[in-house]
Parts: sequence; structure tokens; C-alpha cells
Amino acid sequence: MRKLYTFLVALFSISALLAQTDTRLYDIVNAVSAERIEKDVTTLVNFGTRHTLSDTISQTTGIGAARRWIKSEFEKTSADCNNCLNVFYQKDLVKKGDGQRIVKDVWVVNVVAVQKGTKYPNRFIIMSGDIDSRVSDPNNFTSKSPGANDNASGMAGTIEAARVLSKYQFESSIIYVGLSGEEQGLFGGKGLAAYAKEQGWDIVGIINNDMIGNISGVDGVVSNRDFRIFSEPVPPTETEDQRRARRFYGGEVDGISRQLARYIHKTTKTYMPEMNPMMIYRLDRFGRGGHHRPFNDAGFAGVRIMEAHENYTQQHQDIRVENGIAYGDVLEHVNFGYAKKLTAVNAINLASIAWAPPAPTTVEIGGIVEPSAKLKWNKVDGAVGYKIYWRDTTSPTWDSYKYVGDVTEHTLEGIVIDNFFFGVAAVGKDDHESLVVFPNKIFR
Ligand SMILES: [Zn+2]
Repeated sequence: MRKLYTFLVALFSISALLAQTDTRLYDIVNAVSAERIEKDVTTLVNFGTRHTLSDTISQTTGIGAARRWIKSEFEKTSADCNNCLNVFYQKDLVKKGDGQRIVKDVWVVNVVAVQKGTKYPNRFIIMSGDIDSRVSDPNNFTSKSPGANDNASGMAGTIEAARVLSKYQFESSIIYVGLSGEEQGLFGGKGLAAYAKEQGWDIVGIINNDMIGNISGVDGVVSNRDFRIFSEPVPPTETEDQRRARRFYGGEVDGISRQLARYIHKTTKTYMPEMNPMMIYRLDRFGRGGHHRPFNDAGFAGVRIMEAHENYTQQHQDIRVENGIAYGDVLEHVNFGYAKKLTAVNAINLASIAWAPPAPTTVEIGGIVEPSAKLKWNKVDGAVGYKIYWRDTTSPTWDSYKYVGDVTEHTLEGIVIDNFFFGVAAVGKDDHESLVVFPNKIFR
């Protein structure tokens, strides 16, 4: 009997050790509904235009009606989870002439839904989509502007992720937000990032969704598997000292947004192996913008999730036929099965991050002219252990790791510091991990 007991204990501890996946994340993938996303994109398109400067009085058309509907959807979700969401408008008055695309004073109104964390309520991971749309002339706020893919798809995905994740409880808070004023100059993101600073929110990062529904690209490729994760290399807020240190210690491709991108890449590869996430090492598309940028500007981690193959005849276009080409961002071009997949990518990453302990804030590295690299970090409340990651300096992903248990320093015997990049992540009780932290201090 005793022997059997010992055997069972050994068996359980082995399986606990091997458990690299949390089956709840597969449930979350399956729970995301393409049908509900289709219904919501259709509703958003039917507001006629959602231009930031459009009508706010009508109950059926314009951005006012659209944002009231989005708020009511979040409130419905909240009613189904015992009021687990705190839903509110966050708004800023933008004055006429603040950029060429603000031709009259306008309230830029975001719709925010906060699912409060049980253990770290002031720690937030954010998913965003955009409320607003536009046609060829960015200041035309009356013409029909369905914005089905740009960006009703991201907005509907965000509403759907709230429905799915509100069935669970998380240690950290999750924010689902519809941002406005994107096409006029990223005003909604600017407003919410400033609000977050004022409130002292501890933001892990923002996963911004902008165009997650087109599978047929101008490049001739049709793929419902590929998608892009855009991330900037290092924060624009870094100090001169940090910049100088990077020259000698490295880190050109290891900023906080890049670590968020790697996290999403890894979670997707683990739980949705049929997908092909492409990490793009740049802030955004060439010369183009998105709502993660104002968060980056404020020093927060943030990435953009979007389709891999864009179609420019279906973005920012008056609806028309010209030389046999049908222009316009209309409902018929959105692939809802694909939008479901990218929504699921968001949902599993929000869940994994919100179930994981915070990352260590200080990670020190040493081992100059020695045969082994050494790492030290601060103890994280809620972590059951830590993983040291490393990779070849040319590799985009953290390819090697060692789980070192509940300690705050470790020497990687025989791993020479010069030949790899290193990082540390905190691991929680259900194996969910924090983002990897690139060393931010040196010791001898
Ligand atoms: Zn756009």
C-alpha cells in the first residue's frame, strides 16, 4: 500500500511537471463564435457610418448610436456574469484644428469594460478594437462608411472576447475597449493611455486589433492561417543611459512590446498550432498607424494583431466600381471564421497573462569573462517558480529554457554569456507564465 502511494505521488508529480498546457485555453478557443462576430460586424456596418465626426443624436446611424450599442453589449455580457464588468465611457474633447482631420470640436469617446482581477486588480492586460470608420476623404463624415474589416472586425472580436472570458475569473484585470478617433489621428488611444497614467494603472500591455477579417490579399495570397503581430523594438521613452547600455549589453530587439509579441507567438503555437503567427519587427505597417502606438508612446507595451494579407481596394474607400474593381470596406469581404481565429488568439493570451503572476521587475545578469552566465531577479508574489530563457542572438524566439524552481538566482553552467540573449519569466500555479523580462541590470 505504501509502495502504491509512493508510486502514485511520483506519477502525479511527473504529470504535474509535464503539464505545459491548460485545457481551459482549448475551451476558450472553442467558445469564440464566428456567428456572433458576424452578427456584431453586421450591426456595426448597419450604423451607416461610424466616422468620429458623424452624428451622435440618431438612434440608428452614426458613431453615437454605434458606441451606445457597444456599451449595451458589454452591459449585457456583464449582466450574464453577475456584473463582472465595469462598463463606462472614457472621453476627451478634441478641438477643431487639432490636426487636419479635426474639422470641428468633437468628443472622442471610448467604450471601456473592465473585468476586475481577484488578486492584482490594478494590473491590466488590454484588448482593443476601433469604433470609427472612414471612406476615401478622411474628413467625409456623412457618406456611407461600413468599415466592415477596418475596423468592425476588431471591435466585434473585442466584444466577443469579453463574452467568452467573462465566464472565468482571473488574478489580473482584463480590459476590453472600443477606441474612437483612430482614423482622425489615434485620439482615442491617446486619451485612454493618458487616463491610464492618471489612474496609476499597472499595464502589462495592449493587444490592439485592427483589421482581423480579410484573408484575400493584394499580393494574391489567400490564407486563413497567417496573421501578423507588429511590435516596436524598444520603447520610445527609454533614457539616454538605457540607450548607451544597450550598445554594450544588447537588447536592440528585446523591448517590452517585443516580449509581448513573443508571448503571443508562443501561446498561439502551443494552443492553436494550425495558425501561422508572423512576428513583424516594426511598430506598424510602413508609414501607417494604429491604436497601440499611443500606448507605446506612453511607455506601455503594445502590439498590433492583424491579417497578413491586406487588400487596399477594400480599405478607406468610397463604395464604387471603377475599371471593373469594386471598391469599399463592405461586409461581403470579411471572413468570419478567420476573425474568430484571431479573436481566439487574443482571448487565450489575455487569459494566460491574467492567470499568470506578474513578471519580475528587476533581472540582473552577470558572467563577464566566465564560463557560465548568472541571473538574479526579485521574488514575485504569487510565483511558484521561474524560468530562465535563452536563445541564439539571431533567433526571434526564446528557444531554450530551464525551470529553476522557487529561487531568485541561478547559474547556467557552461552557457557563455557572450553567445546568447537571456531573460527570466515568473511561473504561476497553473503553469501560466509572465512575459519574459530582458535583463535590466548588470552584476559582476
Ligand atoms: Zn483604417
